[in-house]
Amino acid sequence: MNLTNFRLETDADGIALATWDMPGRSMNVFTDAVMDELGQVVDAVVADEGIKGCVIVSGKENFSGGADLTMLQGLGRAYESLKAERGEEEAMRHFFEESRKLTLVFRKLETCGKPFAAAVHGICLGGAFELALSCHYRVLSDDPKTRVGLPEIKVGLFPGGGGTQRVARLMQTGDALQMLFKGEQIRPMMARNMGLVHEVAGRDEMVAKAKAWIAAGGSAVAPWDQPKFKAPSGKVYSPAGMMIWPPANAIYRRETHDNYPAAKAILASVYEGLQLPMDQALRVESRYFAHILRTKEAAAMIRTLFLSMGELNKGARRPKDVPATKVSRVGVVGAGFMGAGVAYVSANAGMEVVLVDQSLEAAEKGKAYAHKLVTDQINKGRAKTADRDALLARITTSADYADLGACDLVIEAVFEDPKVKAEVIAKVEAVIRPETIFASNTSTLPITGLAKTSARPEQFVGIHFFSPVEKMMLVEIIKGDRTGDAALATALDYVRAIKKTPIVVNDARGFFANRCVGAYLLEGHKMLNEGIPAAMIENAGRQAGMPVGPLSLTDEVAVDLALKIVKATEAQLGAESIDPAQKALLTTLVEGEGRLGRKNKKGFYDYPEGAPKRLWPGLAGLQATKVDPDAVDFTELKQRLLVVQALEAARTVGEGVVTDPREADVGSILGFGFAPFTGGALSYIDFMGSQAFVALAQGLEAKHGPRFAVPENLLDMAARGGTFYGDAARKAA
Ligand code: NAD
Repeated sequence: MNLTNFRLETDADGIALATWDMPGRSMNVFTDAVMDELGQVVDAVVADEGIKGCVIVSGKENFSGGADLTMLQGLGRAYESLKAERGEEEAMRHFFEESRKLTLVFRKLETCGKPFAAAVHGICLGGAFELALSCHYRVLSDDPKTRVGLPEIKVGLFPGGGGTQRVARLMQTGDALQMLFKGEQIRPMMARNMGLVHEVAGRDEMVAKAKAWIAAGGSAVAPWDQPKFKAPSGKVYSPAGMMIWPPANAIYRRETHDNYPAAKAILASVYEGLQLPMDQALRVESRYFAHILRTKEAAAMIRTLFLSMGELNKGARRPKDVPATKVSRVGVVGAGFMGAGVAYVSANAGMEVVLVDQSLEAAEKGKAYAHKLVTDQINKGRAKTADRDALLARITTSADYADLGACDLVIEAVFEDPKVKAEVIAKVEAVIRPETIFASNTSTLPITGLAKTSARPEQFVGIHFFSPVEKMMLVEIIKGDRTGDAALATALDYVRAIKKTPIVVNDARGFFANRCVGAYLLEGHKMLNEGIPAAMIENAGRQAGMPVGPLSLTDEVAVDLALKIVKATEAQLGAESIDPAQKALLTTLVEGEGRLGRKNKKGFYDYPEGAPKRLWPGLAGLQATKVDPDAVDFTELKQRLLVVQALEAARTVGEGVVTDPREADVGSILGFGFAPFTGGALSYIDFMGSQAFVALAQGLEAKHGPRFAVPENLLDMAARGGTFYGDAARKAA
């Protein structure tokens, strides 16, 4: 036996303890070597007559995060090269066998004839939880950090290590499907109540409990390998099954619009697998897994939502020469909607916050928002009263700028008015230390322009939050012309400390995210003006993969704010820079009908008390012409809504606003929910192929006008057959 990733020791009672503890890594993951060694552990336990059974535990703070996704990416590359060398059939056979190694080693453990138990503390997700599921007994620590789950769906994959089969045999089918579709992390008591684990115990006791189960003669036969096993929901082909499967199909469609092959594969894998004995069921699962691993959706989602997001979170764009900074005390000026949210997330991350507004009452109102947010958490059982007291004690309210003196970073979120901002900049700079960084949360005013009123433009940076601040995970960091590395590094360190994902962009009107969102909203408004039924527009948005349709999103942003931005753009850039029909539509809604959006419960939608929102019937009356719904090309509506955003993203690259495609992709998904299955606004183009995308956009341009014009940089790329990621890699080399 040759173990480097596990330690195997046997106690006086003949119970082995396999401690998974990979050298030189903070977290255990499945690699080829780990799979091989796990097989050796099983062999050793079986071979030694003195060993009754085995407990698997982790030697790290967490159990394990699951499979190494870069290993899965490597499998895909191996497939491509084998296909070129020896043909598709041979490549596929190899790929299938390689991609089910985890399944086979888990099944070997499950059927080895000796009882295995998992004692789990900390994170145990994906392949790691599939290992636990293949053990005959599972004990979780009752620690608040302990979580189990199968989150694969979130990166376009599905649990291919037996997860779909074991979960579907442990729980009612409806619950199992929900768990697999959602991919949520599950807390210990919940996992026990769901029937996923057997026992919850103190961290110090969990191994003893697992050993006690073995010592008491725990069975080495999984429930589904018992001859009389019956699945919790009964047979698929039964009256009960017919109550489950037709609605399950409908729910799948409603939730995914058929955009996520992995979700469909989960459904099929559970449906087919439940009709088979375990070994064949696992083979079916493996076939789906091998198929899903090779989909472009999985490739795109793994790249953006796992790899790139991880890299950005770890400071991929941080200037390397600036020593790490620590923001202990942050000042927030303007305790309105945004400032209150910024104060909360900062205090929640353990920082001292000085919250300043024009009056103490206004500042207190901002602090009350933090009170409300923690109270909501307490009501959901996710926080304690003591947490609220401690968090609120970290927020000091004031109307006196002098109180900002000791801050490491000051963020302003006052009215979106250059004069007000200039005044605030001067007042803050008069009291802060020379090294303190000043950040503006402006959403529309260029940072370079604002920094002109600053006496220390190198210390001036944009930190653009999205609303609501406590929910939205993206923060755009904007470099003005004179922003220095120290300011950028501090902004990045701060965003990391509040556990959000940063993207760094160069200064331009609308920065990155709002430009793309603006294009999405405009396209929806234009469709309405064309006479397309509002419900069709909204459905096209959702079916294209956006979280909400463009009209609904306008209501969330506020219709009057959208109008204000259109008017400001017209005033600053001239009449040609806006769409007059859009302006007229928004003006009618705001000034004619008093429809401001969700905030006054009427916008494109009505928001009746205690009932779901519904499209305002008056919208049809605003359409000068009407299109016969049967004559609408629905596929084209969906394309328009995504292509118009992707083109805007491509323009930001051409203009040098975005310099790293990872940021555009991560930013587009986290910032405005760009169809996640595409991997983001630039991956949408890359995976379609730049030439195919250009042809599509040019077709739309011919029909719908110059907003679909392809920018030079993308035309060049298509002519070369290039990709955004390929170009970025070439530039970096
Ligand atoms: P808001 O009107 O809710 O809050 C502004 C606050 O600033 C008010 O409490 C006001 O009393 C205070 N204020 C004004 N002048 C001040 C001064 N001289 N000193 C101290 N406080 C002062 O506005 P908001 O929606 O929170 O927006 C604030 C900033 O954030 C704007 O620049 C806006 O563009 C930006 N932003 C807003 C959103 C959004 O969705 N609302 C999103 C991103 C960025």
